Amino acid sequence: MTPDAPTTIAPGVEALPLRTPTLPPATHTNVYLLGTGDFVLVEPASPYPEEIDRAVLWVEQRQQRGDRLRAIVATHHHPDHIGGATALAQRLGAPLWGHAATIDRLVGSVVFDRAIADGAVIALDGEVPLRLRAVHTPGHAPGHLCFYDEVSRAMIAGDMVASVGSILVETIDGDMAQYLASLARMDALEPSVLLPAHGAPIHAAHEKLIGYIAHRLLRESKVLAALRVDSRPRPVAALVPQAYDDTPPHIWPLAALAAEAHLVKLAHDGLAEHTPEGWRALGS
Ligand SMILES: [Zn+2]
Repeated sequence: MTPDAPTTIAPGVEALPLRTPTLPPATHTNVYLLGTGDFVLVEPASPYPEEIDRAVLWVEQRQQRGDRLRAIVATHHHPDHIGGATALAQRLGAPLWGHAATIDRLVGSVVFDRAIADGAVIALDGEVPLRLRAVHTPGHAPGHLCFYDEVSRAMIAGDMVASVGSILVETIDGDMAQYLASLARMDALEPSVLLPAHGAPIHAAHEKLIGYIAHRLLRESKVLAALRVDSRPRPVAALVPQAYDDTPPHIWPLAALAAEAHLVKLAHDGLAEHTPEGWRALGS
């Protein structure tokens, strides 16, 4: 069940899932309002007019209480996270902020007002003051930002982790080595809770983050094992049935994208190489 009304997760942290064109089994993206008094909207997610109306109404109810919307903030450039950005910025009269690499990806489609760099702090005054530190976490998308509240240690996690569905890391937007490093960086901040874009809050943050890292490393070992079965170069799709033998075949086209990201990392690590005929293992 997806709630129709915003939920309060913690003082100064409210969430409203909006229907978005996202990757199944997820169907919604959480929009967060952070702060009491001064507040920001994170994840201007949905492109659908009726969902944008819900977000506008939600913000206007806060403004009618005297709260002040400081900015609309994007975690990354994917359509299920940015689809409502232009409409919300215009209708709410608020500036749009995101990482420089996110802004680069959206040149010509979305106009941003400010780039947020790693380490920047958004200080929000109010009954429950928040200090949101931007944490650059590339790997799923080049400009991906998490936001870590230095007061409560809650972390907006965007698409780095999910409690519904899984995170796709592929080679067009993503980088497996960077993704693993970003997960470790998030874990080092010892967040009290992870607030993902898809699904419910994750209170066992450390277990989730180290679980994700372990899962990807296990998959990497399975990709390498599949590669080593045959010394001849082979296309990625030929490796997937073995490397993803624990997943249903209907997800193998997506799995092939993730497998390629693993292969690029294995090549960087000196364990695989890409030839005109496909991928092959190096060493033993
Ligand atoms: Zn994404």
